This record gives sequence, C-alpha cells and structure tokens, in this order.
Amino acid sequence: MLELRPSCEACSKPLPPNAPDAMICTYECTFCEVCALTRLRNVCPNCGGNFQSRPIRPRAQLAKHPASTTPHEGVDDSSHASFFERYRSTPPGER
Ligand SMILES: [Zn+2]
Ligand SMILES: [Zn+2]
Repeated sequence: MLELRPSCEACSKPLPPNAPDAMICTYECTFCEVCALTRLRNVCPNCGGNFQSRPIRPRAQLAKHPASTTPHEGVDDSSHASFFERYRSTPPGER
C-alpha cells in the first residue's frame, strides 16, 4: 500500500491524496509534476528510477487507510547529479 506522502520532496508543495500532479518513483519518493519532470528530468535523486503519476486513493478508503503525514523533504543534489549523469540518455526500462 502506498504511503501517500504529504508533500513534494523538492519544493514542499502539498500533495494531498487526491492531488492530480503527484508523481512517485518505485520507492515512493514523491514529487510534484513540475519538479519531477523539469528540475529532476525524470531521474529520481534517491534511486535513479523514473516517475509515474501517483494514483489517487478514493476518499472512502482514507478513513481506513489514511495518508502519511510525515514529510520526506530535501533533495540531495550531488546524488541526483550522479544518477542523472548515469541515466540521462537511458530509457527507464533499461536503467
Ligand atoms: Zn515540487
Ligand atoms: Zn526513487
């Protein structure tokens, strides 16, 4: 089950469970669409993977399975730079 982290790890934009612009990597590193696709250029700074849109969780399910309230904010720019160097021209399926 997804944690549904509460905000963008790069710019702190709130990303509630129904945010249409939340994106995640395979480890659920969570970014807004602008940061994921422009600042990070679809390379996760923590694992080198790509991003996909995070599915919304229907409101009726949130009572039983609430979204995380723990932010994971902060981007390690040197880690991103080395993953970006390694994967910049490699499609996600071949990383
Ligand atoms: Zn952002
Ligand atoms: Zn990641």
